[in-house]
Amino acid sequence: MYRTHTCGELNMKDTGKDVILCGWVQKSRDLGGMTFVDLRDRYGITQLVFNMDSNSDLCEKARKLGREFVIQATGKVKERSNKNHKIPTGEIEIEVTELNILNRSEIPPFTIEEDTDGGEELRMKYRYLDLRRNSVKNNIILRHQVAQEVRKYMDSIGFIEVETPVLVNSTPEGARDFVVPSRMQPGTFYALPQSPQTLKQLLMVAGFDKYFQIVKCFRDEDLRADRQPEFTQIDCEMSFVERDEILDTFEGLAKYIFKQIKGIEFSEPLIKLPYQDAMEYYGSDKPDLRFGMKFVNLTDIVKGHDFIVFDTAEYIGGINAEGCAGYTRKQLDELTEFVKKPQTGAKGLIYLRYNTDGTLKSSVDKFYSAEELKKWADAMNAKPGDLILILAGEKKKTLTALSDLRLEMGNRLGFRAKDKFFPLWVVDFPLLEWDEEAKRFFAMHHPFTSPKPEDLPLMETDPGKVRANAYDLVINGVEIGGGSIRIHDSEIQKLMFKVLGFTDQDAIRQFGFLMNAFKYGAPPHGGMAFGFDRLVAMIAGQDSIRDFIAFPKNNSGKDVMLDAPGPISGMQLDELMIDIRKPKKD
Ligand code: ASP
Repeated sequence: MYRTHTCGELNMKDTGKDVILCGWVQKSRDLGGMTFVDLRDRYGITQLVFNMDSNSDLCEKARKLGREFVIQATGKVKERSNKNHKIPTGEIEIEVTELNILNRSEIPPFTIEEDTDGGEELRMKYRYLDLRRNSVKNNIILRHQVAQEVRKYMDSIGFIEVETPVLVNSTPEGARDFVVPSRMQPGTFYALPQSPQTLKQLLMVAGFDKYFQIVKCFRDEDLRADRQPEFTQIDCEMSFVERDEILDTFEGLAKYIFKQIKGIEFSEPLIKLPYQDAMEYYGSDKPDLRFGMKFVNLTDIVKGHDFIVFDTAEYIGGINAEGCAGYTRKQLDELTEFVKKPQTGAKGLIYLRYNTDGTLKSSVDKFYSAEELKKWADAMNAKPGDLILILAGEKKKTLTALSDLRLEMGNRLGFRAKDKFFPLWVVDFPLLEWDEEAKRFFAMHHPFTSPKPEDLPLMETDPGKVRANAYDLVINGVEIGGGSIRIHDSEIQKLMFKVLGFTDQDAIRQFGFLMNAFKYGAPPHGGMAFGFDRLVAMIAGQDSIRDFIAFPKNNSGKDVMLDAPGPISGMQLDELMIDIRKPKKD
């Protein structure tokens, strides 16, 4: 038997027991006649003690242990004289009588402790060592727990987990495909699924009316901290349901997860915020509602006073930073710099200070009387002590800039605590997005998303105005999931393809299998998918999904540990009948 206990379980109740532990040497220290070794495994750390007086050979052996050696220690559990109350095993130690070196280790390239000295790239290259660190290990364990809760909940409400294939053809999420060449059909390629969207719809045609899957999806996109080329979704679909039944079901799942994992109860039904309102009042389709600071449209109130910036602006909007009237010149300058950054792109910032003595002071006093400024303050629902921040310009850009400013103020005022969560639904997204470059409409979600029935007549007259029966679950300004009611009527599907500029042949070539299936009795259906990595990172209060994936890729899509992607042999290329072109020289 290698071990009787783990390194995380022994405590005062076990004193006097003979035990065998296995694990890795975290560190060792020599103190005169004693050697102490911290032994680590997945479950924790237990202190081993070797006494020079009672067993000098063994103590010598212990002194030679290097970091990360794998050892087996046999001994007796003893109460410690110098207790460490920070860890569960901190009141005891093992007086070792036998030490077995199971494996040696080279000196690890970074310290395997809570705070490591290893840089990101090094930690990625030696991910198996990084995973020994508590913080990363705990993230992976959290991921496991969330996955288990998802399965428990979905099973309890009658969903069936069905696996769908990974070698498929192009799926409709609008990103670039990863492709896999076929040896048996040379010159042809599989595509890896961007999501199992079409397959889950086929499962609905097949009669599995409640499907889910925790599934890998692949999208060849430029990467950011919260994106990975392969990521995991909790993918779901249901038949014979209307939108609100779907929202209730998955709201139930989200609430259950937060309750089980974080002990947080969201008792109220989640808000359903129409997309138009989200844009108009928060400048974002994923608003962070941990705090208010709703935009107020001041366009009509402020125009017509010869202030050219306002008079020429399509939209003028403000936010009320409550209690910030005391902001200094320097702080206001910082905010002005902030909104002028290229990402935010506003031309300047106008402020109105509602001083605690009731006077009003603005950066455009020249153009507006005190009464006029009072009108602004009233429109903004401001009271003495508040600071109103105003941006003006082209509507879409200004709303986005105001959204950035709102989030920045939220950060400055401490409204965006990581342990506070505000989930909501954003509903009624536009069905289509106009692409200026391609001069055509694209599906905002995917081409199987159903228009809202009342907007159907607009499909041919004003497609840009058609709202989709689509929804996103947003938490703290992050899109955690999204989905839609699907089109199950082939005439509407044909119309959708037409509006998207697909010829009949295009549609048949790409999605003929689905259109065919729909000829055989497609039930009304809809569903959604949660970004699983993102959900877990959010629960842990972190931004990057990378630390919640056991073996992630870096920002250039590389696995630096496996050194993938890499070249393949000439023989493999021959079998696949693939010639590699030389990169063009500049
Ligand atoms: N397939 C969609 C996505 O990956 C989710 C859905 O519509 O169910 O975003």
